[in-house]
Amino acid sequence: MADKLVSFFQKNLKQWAETHLRPMPWKGEKNPYYIWLSEIILQQTRVEQGLPYFEKFKAKYPTVTDLANAAEDEVMKMWEGLGYYSRARNLHFTAKHISNELNGVFPTDFNSILKLKGIGDYTASAIASFAYDLPYAVLDGNVFRVFSRFLGIKTPIDSTDGKKEFKVITQQFLNKKEPGKYNQAIMDFGATQCVPKNPNCKACPLNKKCVAFEKDLIRELPNKSKKLIKRTRHFNFLVLKKGDTRWIEKREGKDIWKNLYQFPLVETDVALNDFSAFSKFDEWFKIFDQSKPTFIKKSKPFKQTLTHQYIIGVFWEFEISDETFLSLNPSLKGVLNNSLLKFAFPKIIDLYLKDKTLTLNLF
Ligand code: SF4
Repeated sequence: MADKLVSFFQKNLKQWAETHLRPMPWKGEKNPYYIWLSEIILQQTRVEQGLPYFEKFKAKYPTVTDLANAAEDEVMKMWEGLGYYSRARNLHFTAKHISNELNGVFPTDFNSILKLKGIGDYTASAIASFAYDLPYAVLDGNVFRVFSRFLGIKTPIDSTDGKKEFKVITQQFLNKKEPGKYNQAIMDFGATQCVPKNPNCKACPLNKKCVAFEKDLIRELPNKSKKLIKRTRHFNFLVLKKGDTRWIEKREGKDIWKNLYQFPLVETDVALNDFSAFSKFDEWFKIFDQSKPTFIKKSKPFKQTLTHQYIIGVFWEFEISDETFLSLNPSLKGVLNNSLLKFAFPKIIDLYLKDKTLTLNLF
């Protein structure tokens, strides 16, 4: 890459950052634990949404050992509403690893940071550069966008070749004298100046040498090879009621929302009109059906959009008198109404629990 172009980019980015950096509580932070926490929270999350979670985690777990000593259910509850729950599970796992295996001391070199569970190249670069001023350039969606437009690169950013090519470029453009400041600047530049739709290129300090601006390629770049196809899933939750007790279970396995709680679930390919249809889909519900629960009502559909799927959740409420069939599903846990909100649920269940009409009628 021509030195002149690199100097132009670094100089203008630095000047831009002097007046445009967004003030955030983690800016200038040197404690690797807080940097790690903020970066994990901000993955796939808007800053406004992530900020209160960062403050909450920092206050509750001021050190990595405090986080390591917390119960997993508590960490999941603290994370509730942020989505992508594997982040919380990995955060907790890695805190325990640092606390137990590394004497509570965060690793100080890039490769050791990268080995930690839940930390990829981007987060390792952010921690290494912000905490220790090591020369590792960050590469996230914002940075891909800036370089693909500035240099007019059409290689799909989601391809193996694209990832390699952009990795080399970001490292070439990195200001190695001030890697932390440079990384912060380019992340903010992508997030607020070179935005996905309708960037204000006329006010951009890089426009004199920006290929996308010159050739009118802004809408086409960055290029992606795959189109995201979302599937729709129908979740039928059974709210089993006996006095003040409801039954919930922890989600296991490889599907979404691992370790969060839910009401017993029957997933179907289509929306169901009649609860007797459950037994066609699941052995356990066949037995449930035989115990003659009293159907109370069905909720309106609640919707949640995830990266790869749409979830439509309907809550079927039943009064039960016979509890014996519950022993057939040992994962079920009877919980008093007023304790339900102590558990971490997926957003769709939270929406249901917090729905006013239901709160008045049922809970
Ligand atoms: S000129 Fe426009 S497209 Fe080019 S870097 Fe600036 S904001 Fe991005």
